[in-house]
Amino acid sequence: MRKILKTYRYRIYLNKEQTVNIDNTLDLCRNLYNSALEHRIYLYKHWKVSISYNAQQNELPMIKQELPEYTAVHSQVLQDVLRRLDKAYQNFFRRVKQGETPGIPRFQGYKRYNSFTYSQSGFSLSGSHLQLSKLGNIKVKLHRQVIGEMKTCTVVRKNGRYYVCFSCEVENQTVPLTYRDAGIDMGIKEFCITSDGELIPNPKNYRQVEDKLKNQQRAVSRKKKGSHRRKKAVRELAGTHEHILNQRKDNAYKVAKNLLEKYDTIVREDLQIANMIKNHKLAKSISDAGWGLFFNILDAKAKQTLGKRVIAVDPKYTSQVCSGCGQFVKKELSVRVHHCSGCGLTIDRDINAAINILRKGLVAA
Ligand SMILES: [Zn+2]
Repeated sequence: MRKILKTYRYRIYLNKEQTVNIDNTLDLCRNLYNSALEHRIYLYKHWKVSISYNAQQNELPMIKQELPEYTAVHSQVLQDVLRRLDKAYQNFFRRVKQGETPGIPRFQGYKRYNSFTYSQSGFSLSGSHLQLSKLGNIKVKLHRQVIGEMKTCTVVRKNGRYYVCFSCEVENQTVPLTYRDAGIDMGIKEFCITSDGELIPNPKNYRQVEDKLKNQQRAVSRKKKGSHRRKKAVRELAGTHEHILNQRKDNAYKVAKNLLEKYDTIVREDLQIANMIKNHKLAKSISDAGWGLFFNILDAKAKQTLGKRVIAVDPKYTSQVCSGCGQFVKKELSVRVHHCSGCGLTIDRDINAAINILRKGLVAA
């Protein structure tokens, strides 16, 4: 069976000392990256030579001697910094070869350089404890299990929060075919409903977090520009955004996996057209981002899985047409039940739409 790499990301919780040490590691890595880049640029400018990863890596012991603060960083982490630079150069040369005119690799600022990687060893996970060489024992929130063999471990800082990503080698599982198809109708109160009538809810606490976001947005706009209080409020807002994005991603992966296990063909609405039809101002931004993210993940997962496919259709009239007989049954958005006087079908409005979506997709395919 073919093996693939899968990344698992978890939030980590640091004490003060660990925060200082990780920030310090990030600073040192970024400085190493920038000076190694400077060195490459210098050599090329003056001597027209390009220096290899190996040559730069061989200088690490000397750097540690001259700058003892670098002994606080695991050697693999430092090697990985140089490897990142090398990769940036290889991409640059590849693009030049293809006839493009890319910019040369850039110096990295505080915000851009936000992660470091243990490329083989120096890390271990047991329960909710992550042991990192040179950094100690860190608390991890393992919201789902790591599957497969851990290859690399990356620590990421984003909006004042910290995460760990494990890249794992896993067997590429084929999902068994079920010979069943489904249409899905996206909702605002609920996440979506299938043509089989399965209601898939929004993530837990979804509303509360959205409310919190609105309050924080208001709080930011009330604070004076440039003030400390405003900066703090902005940071809190960014944290909530991050939380919502993570929640949406987790939910999207879960729903996509679930659907692909149950069905071979999944028919969904075409997002752009769906927006024009059913999105109302209030819910627009909320569902916009969530649906787009979900569709991307669902499409990508289906592509990776043998025998599974996703079809996107124009959802026009799918809530109005009767899935029983095809008759047009016009109804306002507030009417939640589809009742057809032609064939007598009485069914939930959204399930009716999901069935129509499925049919449209199968006709189109
Ligand atoms: Zn009918």
